[in-house]
Amino acid sequence: MTNKYMYFIANWKMYGNLSSLNTLNKIIKFSKSKEINKGRLIYCPPYTLISAFSKKFKNCQIGIGGQNCHESISYGPYTGSVNAKMLKNIGAHFVIIGHSENREKGENDKLINLKIKNALLAKLKVIFCIGETLTQKKKKKTEFVLSKQIKVGLNSVKNKSNIFIAYEPVWSIGTGVVPKSKDLFKTINFIKSKFKDKSPKVFYGGSVNPQNINDLKEINNIDGFLIGGASQNTKKFIDIVKKTYT
Ligand code: PEP
Repeated sequence: MTNKYMYFIANWKMYGNLSSLNTLNKIIKFSKSKEINKGRLIYCPPYTLISAFSKKFKNCQIGIGGQNCHESISYGPYTGSVNAKMLKNIGAHFVIIGHSENREKGENDKLINLKIKNALLAKLKVIFCIGETLTQKKKKKTEFVLSKQIKVGLNSVKNKSNIFIAYEPVWSIGTGVVPKSKDLFKTINFIKSKFKDKSPKVFYGGSVNPQNINDLKEINNIDGFLIGGASQNTKKFIDIVKKTYT
């Protein structure tokens, strides 16, 4: 059991429409109850729903984030893109950057670094995703990969107070497979050790659900969870938070 301040980030990926707003009444009620304990909830819906979520959450403490942003801080001829300033303008406080589903489409560490710097300039808090693939894990390259992602991704980012790191092993996302507790503890410690002064808070993401949260919550160096599939079901998401604190 934990009694620490923990983050629970709902990554809705490319799911949801206006009728999803009705499902949020339960989470709003929960966020105002004692059961939330020291949990901090953040929803990252698709771009199309950020504004509506932001209005819906206006009288509660639930944060809102985007799932990505364009690397340019200025407006420009980038069809289909949204930048950090635009996210901020419609009510976002956070943005996920470096998610493996976007790295797979060609986002590299340098591009991610640019996005992070511009998101910070736009006064967003950044949830910076890192993680190794299964092949890299099998070749025992996890620490090497994570070190490079952190080094390049945060290059010349001096003030890290608005950075959160989400460790998301690619082989764990959407697969139902989570790392062994002792391996996860070690990797989270390794990530924290990469920061000379104060480490950013480090979250775990990858197949978190109401069944495995009982084991995950015992790993005491984890500062929160980035939750994909299970977060789209409000009951499961609430269960995860409740179980973390019982
Ligand atoms: C994610 O997409 O960030 C994620 C953790 O997904 P899932 O929980 O579905 O594995």
